[in-house]
Amino acid sequence: MSLTSDLERLLGPGRVRHHPLDVAVFAKDAGVVPGSVLAAVLPETTQEVAAIVRLANRHEVPIVPRGAGTGLAGGAVPTEPGLLVVLTRFTSIEDVDTVGRTAWVGPGVINLDLSRALTGEGLHFAPDPSSQSACTIGGNVGTNAGGPHCLADGTTVAHIYAAELVTPSGDVVVVGGEAPDTPGLDLRAVVVGSEGTLGIVTRVLVRLMQSPPDVATLLIGFPSVESAAATVSDVIASGLIPAALEMMDKRMVAAVENFVHAGYPTDAAAVLLAEVTGPTSTVLADTERIADIAREHGADDVRIATDDDERALLWKGRKSAFGAVAQAAPDYYLHDTVVPRTRLVEVMNQIYEIGDRYGLMMLNVFHAGDGNLHPLVAFDAKEPGMLERVQAAAKEMVKASIEVGGSLSGEHGIGFEKRDLMPLVFSAVDLDAQARVKEAFDPLGLMNPDKVLPSGSRCFDAAGVRL
Ligand SMILES: Cc1cc2nc3c(=O)[nH]c(=O)nc-3n(C[C@H](O)[C@H](O)[C@H](O)COP(=O)(O)OP(=O)(O)OC[C@H]3O[C@@H](n4cnc5c(N)ncnc54)[C@H](O)[C@@H]3O)c2cc1C
Repeated sequence: MSLTSDLERLLGPGRVRHHPLDVAVFAKDAGVVPGSVLAAVLPETTQEVAAIVRLANRHEVPIVPRGAGTGLAGGAVPTEPGLLVVLTRFTSIEDVDTVGRTAWVGPGVINLDLSRALTGEGLHFAPDPSSQSACTIGGNVGTNAGGPHCLADGTTVAHIYAAELVTPSGDVVVVGGEAPDTPGLDLRAVVVGSEGTLGIVTRVLVRLMQSPPDVATLLIGFPSVESAAATVSDVIASGLIPAALEMMDKRMVAAVENFVHAGYPTDAAAVLLAEVTGPTSTVLADTERIADIAREHGADDVRIATDDDERALLWKGRKSAFGAVAQAAPDYYLHDTVVPRTRLVEVMNQIYEIGDRYGLMMLNVFHAGDGNLHPLVAFDAKEPGMLERVQAAAKEMVKASIEVGGSLSGEHGIGFEKRDLMPLVFSAVDLDAQARVKEAFDPLGLMNPDKVLPSGSRCFDAAGVRL
């Protein structure tokens, strides 16, 4: 009997998609490279996920966990005909503990829905990717997602206490626990950010944060990218950690303003969107401090949102930035590298130069506070040779970031997209250690294969001899 017949017997035909037209919708994530989907299944319980994994193992078919498919690194796309396990029906929010500030949630809960569900309790889930109205908590766990407000609060790994995991052999385990420091190896931190390569997360114990008593949002226009970047460095150097510190260049501001009409200053060379939170007295002092530092660096346009509606509008501008690019071209390629804050300007200039050399339209919007760069190339994939040019330029941009002491990815993950660039930041010994962890979880190598680790990563035998 075929895998799809076995799956239909387990789940019923309505939750197994294998017609080419049905699976076409799952053949890509928000990245640029399509994959090959044998079938997509929509389980509703952990036991179903475990049974699916055991069936796929019996048929020796690769398994790929998938949330909303907003990932940008090809993580949720099979590289060879594989089975997609789509977790979007796991939407429960249970055991909300308003005293301990935790809740058990399904991986299919949409990030923003979780915070919306908790508004009445004065709580929220801190990681807020710009895709938060679509991406899932499971995908956030898979990629260790970041977001504008992760500067002060930390990325997803700091907000997950435990995860229920269906292992690649189909067993159900819980990594982490309700106690702040569970004994034994911290497998929770190994699973968070493992991009679906170590198992399928079916329930998550999330940490909830108290919503701050007061908040101020500043939109600051600068005469140059240099002055905006210097302000970012000086704000952090002053000991202040704003809740968010986001930067956009002139081209991105123009696209956003034309799209959202939020009143962004289109004559500025760069714009900072900063947010401070806390008790009112702290918020007032911090707002003034940031405005002063910005003015010292030549900022001529400092606007402070006067109410929640204005604040929401300013954030709508930032969070719609990638959608706004659709005005310029039908496709975009969004990069994700990290550079030391002090090298931001230097790397941005190199990135503009690389873009110009390849004849590409570049726009920039990024989490400046933590040096997480997101250069974006707007292009038309139908133009012959264009995708290849975009990808070649991408490699150069990654190298430019790494050369100044930066890293391969700040939040989008490695997936398939950057898998072969891993040796730029990891030695053979490092890669081998990671491959051993993967092998310990997944001896058959069927759980999201070809992702994160380049082929040949496992290169030493048990005695430490190079294979
Ligand atoms: C417009 C736009 C803006 C974005 N902004 C940000 C941003 O600010 N910050 C950021 O970090 N990312 C951002 N992203 C990228 C993306 O939204 C995040 O990586 C998000 O966490 C992916 O969630 P998802 O549900 O779409 O996961 P998917 O794309 O479906 O999957 C992502 C990875 O997680 C794995 N996975 C999914 N669910 C599970 C599960 N239950 N168990 C195990 N593994 C699983 C998949 O196998 C895959 O490797 C953005 C994307 C877009 C399109």
